[in-house]
Amino acid sequence: MERFMEQQREMTRRAFFKMMAGLGLAGWAVTAGGCLRPAELPAGVEDLPPYHHRVASAWPAQVRGCVPIDPVSPSLVQDHRKCNLCGQCLDVCRNTQSVVGYYDLPLVDEIICINCGQCALVCPTGAISERDDTEKVWQALEDPGRFVVVQTAPATRVSLGEEFGLPPGTWVAGKQVAALRRLGFDAVWDTNFTADLTIMEEATELIKRIKGELPGHPLPLLTSCSPGWVKFCEYFYPNLLPHMSSCKSPQQMFGALAKTYYAEKKNIDPEKIFSVSIMPCTAKKFEAQRPEMNASGLYRGTPSIRDVDAVLTTRELARMLKQKGIDLAGLPEEDYDPLMGKCTGGAIIFGATGGVMEAAVRTAFFFITGNEPPSDLLNLTPVRGLEGVKEGALDVPGVGTLRIAVCHGLANGRRVLEAMRDGRAPWHFVEFMACPGGCIGGGGQPRTAVPPTDEIRAKRIAALYHADARWERRLSHENPEILTLYQEFLEHPMSELAEELLHTEYVSRGHQLRARKAAVALG
Ligand code: SF4
Ligand code: SF4
Repeated sequence: MERFMEQQREMTRRAFFKMMAGLGLAGWAVTAGGCLRPAELPAGVEDLPPYHHRVASAWPAQVRGCVPIDPVSPSLVQDHRKCNLCGQCLDVCRNTQSVVGYYDLPLVDEIICINCGQCALVCPTGAISERDDTEKVWQALEDPGRFVVVQTAPATRVSLGEEFGLPPGTWVAGKQVAALRRLGFDAVWDTNFTADLTIMEEATELIKRIKGELPGHPLPLLTSCSPGWVKFCEYFYPNLLPHMSSCKSPQQMFGALAKTYYAEKKNIDPEKIFSVSIMPCTAKKFEAQRPEMNASGLYRGTPSIRDVDAVLTTRELARMLKQKGIDLAGLPEEDYDPLMGKCTGGAIIFGATGGVMEAAVRTAFFFITGNEPPSDLLNLTPVRGLEGVKEGALDVPGVGTLRIAVCHGLANGRRVLEAMRDGRAPWHFVEFMACPGGCIGGGGQPRTAVPPTDEIRAKRIAALYHADARWERRLSHENPEILTLYQEFLEHPMSELAEELLHTEYVSRGHQLRARKAAVALG
């Protein structure tokens, strides 16, 4: 009798698994075959061929589809063999970034994607990941004819350690420098240097806009250092592009200076320089490939020279270190190389949502009043933290009340943009970051928790503010290497040469889609 019962239980288990396998196979067949009613397709993907996009089927329930990744995306790759169609990438793309589902495509000549990589952070199977550019960098490092330089973003120093077993938020700036030297880089610099430079240029631009000295460039000024955000605005709100700061991101400012300022100082042929950046961000790979990012080439009369030759995410750097058997945790702390290696606390907090705003306000206050900012501007709590949209109002002598806003995650950004479009925007200056938490939550960061959590984001952010509070200099305009750069090369913020190397223009991508007016509103 007992044996009979066991057989029955076994049959039941077998029948259950058989049924599930049948459902799964049927789901795959329906999905791969595209046998779906148009009403079941996510918006914006109706015209995509099946290999571009596994569309969601309504049955079985567990098969929900995945986002479309362009096969030639500079940022991401998709391995369909690993995809279980769980739909988590669709959720983050739609709900956190408000991209998929927010457009109609009359004609498909491009997959609509802002390259943010948030889908790679939530994918439980690793079916979506960063495009691997490590081989390019290995080749450059092994080429004796190349002078290989590297810059490291503000956010990687509080996350790289997680790849080596250290807790989230562990400060590994000096160890990262040591690791990069052991990989063979000829110069190791800090993107924070050009974060300070961005503040010099952007604070100047803000003041000029407030004074009405830049016709056609209205307020509010929108920050421009998050390439996913910039592309989002180019797609969905091209009519608001005149609000976008003309400042390039710190990565691109750095690339332009490495092959001009540094090359001249050290008498190195810029064509021999191979410029690498270590970024928390997959969209930076896209940004580096934008056609206009060859200011150093134009400066030298050789347009084929690119400002940044390769972008590695934090995860790719960790892979290279592991391939070479370098244990980050055991390395000593080393300093960045001089000339473009110093930074201030203002630059350090660039990696956190609200950080660019806080750093810019500190320096704008100084530029306007000639006085050091008061202590509340060195701890600008209204724009700190993980709330999706943050606002503040500051009294600045000579200007009156300066109204600011900060948002991160582009569904939040969309709320701010809708308010602007509807004439409900009281702000002078707004910071946008594509990724939740800012750069510390970038799509190229360690997958320490999948999906990423606010707890981890908060630890990384806390490490940046902790460092800022203790840094020798906290104001971007006090960075001695920045002052030297202006004295010896650029002359002053927004000079002719600064405009040529550090500023840019944007393109409308709105013709590629019909944006749906969002059903979200601020407040
Ligand atoms: S999150 Fe990953 S596994 Fe899930 S549908 Fe998207 S690509 Fe596929
Ligand atoms: S990279 Fe960003 S925009 Fe592109 S599919 Fe992934 S989540 Fe969506």
